[in-house]
Parts: sequence; C-alpha cells; structure tokens
Amino acid sequence: MTKMIPQIPVATMPHAVSRLRAERLARAVKPFRARGGPSERCPGCRVMHSHCLCALRPNLPTQAGMCLLMADIEPLKPSNTGWLIADVVADTFAYSWARTSVDPRLLTLLADPQWQPYVVFPGEFVTPDRVVTALLPAAVNAGHPAKRPLFVLLDATWAEAGKMFRKSPYLNHLPVLSLHPEQISTYRLRRSTHTNHFCTSEVGALCLALASEVRAAEVLATYLDVFTHHYLQAKNQQPVNWDDAPHQRLRGLCGQVLGGQPQVLNAQRHPSQP
Ligand SMILES: [Zn+2]
Repeated sequence: MTKMIPQIPVATMPHAVSRLRAERLARAVKPFRARGGPSERCPGCRVMHSHCLCALRPNLPTQAGMCLLMADIEPLKPSNTGWLIADVVADTFAYSWARTSVDPRLLTLLADPQWQPYVVFPGEFVTPDRVVTALLPAAVNAGHPAKRPLFVLLDATWAEAGKMFRKSPYLNHLPVLSLHPEQISTYRLRRSTHTNHFCTSEVGALCLALASEVRAAEVLATYLDVFTHHYLQAKNQQPVNWDDAPHQRLRGLCGQVLGGQPQVLNAQRHPSQP
C-alpha cells in the first residue's frame, strides 16, 4: 500500500526554534503561561491570531548559518527573537543549553567540516588570541569548498549568557567573534536605537552584515521591527498598520521572496483593515 505523504510548503514547516519549543513544552512539569493562552496565539509566529505575521515571513538562502544555544526558558517566550532568525535564515540550528550536559547534535554540528563556527561574545572576557573582529579568511584546501560561517549565539539574558559562555567547555576551542564598536555605532545610527544591549536577532543581523550578506542583514533587522509592531499592537489591543515604514521596507526588500508570493502583504490584510 502506498502511503500518502502530505506536501507541506517550506514556509509552514516548523523550524529549529519551533521544534525546540515543542520539545521544551513536552518536558514541562507545569504548563508555561504566556499572556493570551496557546489557543489565542498563532503557532507560526506566537502573536495573537488577529495580529498574525506569518504571511510576512521572509526565508532567504544564505551562505552563513546560525546556531542558537538557548537558555532553558527562551524557546517558550513569545517575545524571543531567536525565533525570528530561524524564520529568516534557512540554516538555523537551535539547542537547549544545560550546565551539566550537552546535546550531542550540537557537538556534531560544531565538528562538521563544512562550517567554521564562531562564538559571538564580547572579546574582553577571553584571552586576545581567541578574539576575531572579522571573519577568518576562507581556507581553500585541496579541492574542498570554503567553509561556511556558523554563528553561535547565546540566546539568553546577559547574566545567563555569561554563565553559559564560561560553563561550556566544548566552545573553548572556537574563535570568539567580538562585534566592534564602530560596527555597533553604525548600526545604532542607522536604526536610531540607543540601547546598550542588543536582542538576539539584532546580533544575528550584525553577524550577517559581517559575513557580507547585506540584504539578509537588512531583512532580519526590518523583520524585527515588523514583529515588534505586531507584537505590541496585539498586546495593546490596537490594529496592525500594514503600511507603516517597516512593512513598506520589508516589502521593498523581499517583494520577491515573502512566502513565495510577491503581493502577499496586500493579500493577507486583516479583515479589520480598510
Ligand atoms: Zn502567525
């Protein structure tokens, strides 16, 4: 008997962070409560159904990959922005971090010769010989393709990230990519942001820019703005403005790749919108 396998469009397949969220929920002893219960939130974007932004999810082929090492609770937070990286960057991997154990799949990934992993962390916390501020020259060796950059991001609060960095001996052999002040200030100026702490998807965007993936970096930064708008409007029970500057910018950047449908933004207007 032939078994029918349903065809799932790529954009609706669960990505690494949504799979990790499902694993984490399955392990939960008591139910995790985010405002607006699970039934009110879209499983694709974690925002209330009325403010769903799944139709805006860009998915770009990139040379770089992302590896999110997530603090225990992060995959459960509807505001976690590692999720946005997994939306945009096709080759995103996500693992739960624990002090006393390590996911063997993470070790396999870090040892995979197709990747050159970098731990993204401030350089002042390690010996200078480990610190890099730009990608290593692509090693061309005996007919093997150049290694692809893999950015290891610690997705956690700042205090947790410090602990994760110190207590993960399997990261000790990797170069530490330290984002330099010039790059950070350029980013702040362009986005008129003054915060001293970047969220995970902003760090991801800076890494993509360092890897010369300028368009993907722009898409990820703009997608964060769009997500933030949908998230806050839902929280404040206000309608989505589908034509504000970030939506227009995202449309301009990804007209051809948004969900594979150029006019998807207009097609997916919420019924309450004119
Ligand atoms: Zn959604």
